Amino acid sequence: MLVDSHCHLDFPELAGDLASVFALMRENSVTHALCVSVTLEDFPRVRGIAESNPNIYGSVGVHPDYEGRDVTVKELVAHAANPRIVAIGETGLDYFRLKGDLEWQRERFRTHIRAARECGKPLIIHTREAAADTLKIMREEGADKAGGVMHCFTESLDVAKAAMDLGFYISFSGIVTFKNAKDLKAVAIEVPLERMLVETDSPYLAPVPYRGRTNQPGFVKHVAEEVARLKGAAFDRVCKETTDNFFHLFSSISETPDVNA
Ligand SMILES: [Zn+2]
Ligand SMILES: [Zn+2]
Repeated sequence: MLVDSHCHLDFPELAGDLASVFALMRENSVTHALCVSVTLEDFPRVRGIAESNPNIYGSVGVHPDYEGRDVTVKELVAHAANPRIVAIGETGLDYFRLKGDLEWQRERFRTHIRAARECGKPLIIHTREAAADTLKIMREEGADKAGGVMHCFTESLDVAKAAMDLGFYISFSGIVTFKNAKDLKAVAIEVPLERMLVETDSPYLAPVPYRGRTNQPGFVKHVAEEVARLKGAAFDRVCKETTDNFFHLFSSISETPDVNA
């Protein structure tokens, strides 16, 4: 049993044929997936997918790459009151995609952390070329009181350790399977399984051997296989630990019915 802790099933690459996406999940024993929101405009579709599929959950948030989308603590908390919505995000900082004065990004990140603390649901944090500011704001806003995950992790071991010190999990995506991701492979060896999640971030970043194709949650199996290989751990153990971590972190899931239980 495996879980995809981060995917975008509402994106057009996947939304048109969810039946085949779910079929591959079943084939690869991927039992649950978390469908992550990137804008409030798209959120109703994320919520709809989570409400109509028993083992799919949703989050609410505005991704840092979308400029000019205002969001308030009140709005986030209201959307997160839905039992199918188990996290706040994705949020964070991205200094790679956007340049210039990004104070609005930092302010929006603070808004998400405040919302997570208020509603008691964990954060899904995206950080790219902004690790120092990300950690600084997490500390200033008391993100440790909400907890969460550093998703699609590509930073150094020091950044991973700092996030783990704040009680956060580190989630690895298909990038860890890429031949040229030597530094990230070294980080995956050091991050203990007790703090690790796996994800696809589909439809992007398909793992080897599907690199360049449309990614989907079933492919998270290849991420877990690479983690097992790197750590010299049994594949079953990687599956079990990352799945246990998922349910521990997104603990409100256990309050909702689960057809596979
Ligand atoms: Zn992201
Ligand atoms: Zn994402």
